[in-house]
Amino acid sequence: MRRLTRLWRRSIQARVVTSTIVLSALVIALTGWALLRDVAGGLADSRRVAAISEAKSGFDYAQTQLDASVETEPATQSQALTQMVDSLTSSRGAKRTYELVLEGPLLTGTGEVPIRSSAAIEAGSLPADLDRAVRSKPGTYWRYSDLALLGSSDTHPSVVVGSQLRAPGTGDTYALFYLFSMEDQQETLDLVRRALLLGGLAMVLMVGGVAWLVSRQVLDPVRLARRIAERYASGNLEQRMHVSGEDDIARLSSSFNQMAASLQSQIRRLENLSRLQQRFVSDVSHELRTPLTTVQMASEVLYDARERFDPQTARSAELLKGELDRFESLLSDLLDLSRFDAGAAKLELDTIDLSQVARSGADDPMLARKGIDVALIGVDEPAIVEADIRRIDRIVRNLLTNAAKYSGSPRIEIEVAQNDGCVSLAVRDFGVGLSGDENLRVFDRFWRADPARTQGGTGLGLAISREDAALHGGTLQAWGRPGEGSEFVLTIPKPEGTAKFPAITSVFA
Ligand code: ADP
Repeated sequence: MRRLTRLWRRSIQARVVTSTIVLSALVIALTGWALLRDVAGGLADSRRVAAISEAKSGFDYAQTQLDASVETEPATQSQALTQMVDSLTSSRGAKRTYELVLEGPLLTGTGEVPIRSSAAIEAGSLPADLDRAVRSKPGTYWRYSDLALLGSSDTHPSVVVGSQLRAPGTGDTYALFYLFSMEDQQETLDLVRRALLLGGLAMVLMVGGVAWLVSRQVLDPVRLARRIAERYASGNLEQRMHVSGEDDIARLSSSFNQMAASLQSQIRRLENLSRLQQRFVSDVSHELRTPLTTVQMASEVLYDARERFDPQTARSAELLKGELDRFESLLSDLLDLSRFDAGAAKLELDTIDLSQVARSGADDPMLARKGIDVALIGVDEPAIVEADIRRIDRIVRNLLTNAAKYSGSPRIEIEVAQNDGCVSLAVRDFGVGLSGDENLRVFDRFWRADPARTQGGTGLGLAISREDAALHGGTLQAWGRPGEGSEFVLTIPKPEGTAKFPAITSVFA
């Protein structure tokens, strides 16, 4: 059942073929039903018309016989009638197409009347309303009816025509019924029904087949286009569609190819531009390094001798040293990023314990200096991963420095947890928090929540931390709520681990 629903949802061809089959079956069934009704009506009508005219001539003959008879004795009269029925059923033609039932003499008020019948008709199998109509008034009446024969369980479709007869001799009335079998018509109708059913079925199958062929003709190129688009999307930019002919599919293919070519050239252009920019940043950072070292050394000398300067010059020497330190850290951040961009960043893997990393992070004197209270959660158990201790340490210290620098929180929580597949380390603060999409933007290069109130940062720390995490096959994610604090979760996969999701779910998630 699920496979069928999946097929229905995924395959246009299945939908086209099924709906064509269902609709054409409906149309064919409706047409067949109308046709069958017409044929049945026509057959019954023609049989009825012939039956009534044949019966009428029979009634006339019987009435003439009765009129000519001069019997006054009911017994002999009755015998004469029996003979008349016999002659009616035996005289005409070689093959008789009807049976006769004669009821009478009809006495008013009595239900039970003697019956003479040329066939073994079940008593009471004549349609009751026809019987009533014939008994009540002179005239010719007819009905379609299913008659049951004595000793047989099946019924026979027939048309029954009845009329009153009057015997002038005794003054009795009789009811004479002609029963015409409609078996032939029924057989013809069955034949037509079977032919219609088989024909309809064959037609539905044929229409289904045609729908399948036609939809394949349209869908095959579309499927091909989908496969090529998927390959293109997965980075194979050389993929193009084959164009043949001038139909809609050919035009779609050439439009697709144009789009692919234009996208490819744009992507190449942007890649080149990005490479150029990366090279530029990397070259500039390298080039600045040497003069910076010299200037830093000179500023070191000035800084060390600041006590001998007048206060203004001494302050300048301090500022100079501070800004040069900042400049140096910016340069080293830029060099780090350009190494990531160039794919030149290398991991030096060791077996490390993230609980240990968390504990040593908590001991950072900077936190104590700022009077921040640090709580450790889940660090009693070892949380072992294969990682580059230098980079992991850098991430954790960056997260702690940020929490201390930007959040204004008096308390920080460091939590370590693990599952089958990975180990997570979360740093949570209870400060200003992150609003809107800031939890994503904090990882953007040079992004700072409030550049005006800059705390000396460059906006590169979290970008580098995220690259460091990705280098391990891990993730660094941020959550937060304004005024309630923020939480940064670093997740490193275990070497044999399977699960990729973080082992800690942030309270803000
Ligand atoms: P930097 O290297 O300058 O510290 P980061 O990339 O580490 O820059 O952080 C970028 C910005 O993210 C910061 O300027 C700060 O506005 C915001 N931020 C980082 N951590 C937090 C935090 N714990 N609480 C609030 N804001 C934060």
